[in-house]
Amino acid sequence: MIPPLMPTYARAGLAFERGEGAWLIAADGKRYLDFAGGVAVNSLGHAHPKLVAALAAQAGKLWHVSNLFRIPEAERLAARLVEASFADTVFFANSGAEAMECAIKTARKYHAASGHPEKFRMVTFEGSFHGRTLATLAAAGNEKYLEGFGPPLAGFDQVAYGDLAAAKKAIGPETGAILVEPIEGEGGVRVPPAGFLKGLRALSDDNGLLLVLDEVQTGIGRTGKFFAYEWTGVTPDILAAAKGLGGGFPVGACLATAEAAKGMTAGTHGSTFGGNPLAMSVAHAVLDVVLEKGFLDRVRKTGLLFKQRLAGIVDRHPAVLAEVRGEGLLIGLRALVPNGELAAACREEGLLTAAAGDNSVRLLPPLIIGEAEIAEAVARLNAACAKLAAVLASQARGAAE
Ligand SMILES: *Cc1c(COP(=O)(O)O)cnc(C)c1O
Repeated sequence: MIPPLMPTYARAGLAFERGEGAWLIAADGKRYLDFAGGVAVNSLGHAHPKLVAALAAQAGKLWHVSNLFRIPEAERLAARLVEASFADTVFFANSGAEAMECAIKTARKYHAASGHPEKFRMVTFEGSFHGRTLATLAAAGNEKYLEGFGPPLAGFDQVAYGDLAAAKKAIGPETGAILVEPIEGEGGVRVPPAGFLKGLRALSDDNGLLLVLDEVQTGIGRTGKFFAYEWTGVTPDILAAAKGLGGGFPVGACLATAEAAKGMTAGTHGSTFGGNPLAMSVAHAVLDVVLEKGFLDRVRKTGLLFKQRLAGIVDRHPAVLAEVRGEGLLIGLRALVPNGELAAACREEGLLTAAAGDNSVRLLPPLIIGEAEIAEAVARLNAACAKLAAVLASQARGAAE
């Protein structure tokens, strides 16, 4: 019999009652160090006082007005995002997939408005993830997620991630854009070779294409820069953000240059909930913290320290872990045991992680953590790996006998 809650997720048998900073507390009182972070959403941890205050203050005033009217909180948040990035203009949505839908539509409309409606195709990359709508599934081209949902939306040409030559070869007369994650998050925190984004920027410029970045996971300070493209020395034409932007309140954003957004005039796109005062007020509070002087410096330092400690754990458990990778506090551990088993072993030690592609688990702690939480996480991961290594060793002895 199907449960009332549609069973589309393989959930761990755990539920939480409340959260405090980097900690989640289960109904039985057990405390978990939350390095799953709502999959890079709880950027400032749980129950951050500034976010709670912003939400409560707005809740007493006004929750929602439609986009039939001006929304000053949205105008101000858009101006702040413009100020903090390459962009000239912002559309607000409610999720990453919706931000990506707007990014795809903006790119297609740009070429239509330029007299080239035939340039609707995008070069995209294997192992990427852009969301679960029909367009974003087609963009990523993951067969497993497309299976059974009818013909995928036309217009996306996947090539190997990190392969500039393949990207170049995929460009044809109908290509209008290149869409890429600066680091593939769901794909397993796969970091492309140095110069990859720069190369894609050059390819875009040489061929009259728009460069579209999916920073839904990498954005809003996750990698130690406000946006991950800041590491690369190039800027995109269009960018999707979401996850960390609301710190747990659903909000997405599509950022674009004036040129790239030239087709997005009144009536071309919309969202009933997009940019409503509740979401905007919480996102303002997130930016108040993340854009504060010194905050991103601390994220970078904390990330480096964490990665160094994790490298030590990888060395200590060579049968369990293969590699640590990532940038800032977007960190992946490639496992040599099934990644689900590693995540489960960590969970038993009270450490929550998020499994990802390429047999990896992600560590996505709140950006506010310090050395104490890192030490705690490393100790728990070490204990989990020791148990898994012991199981492997006893299996090996069993096989030898
Ligand atoms: C999570 C994610 C999305 C989809 O976001 P939703 O809010 O689940 O729709 C899109 N792109 C990337 C890179 C993501 O990590």
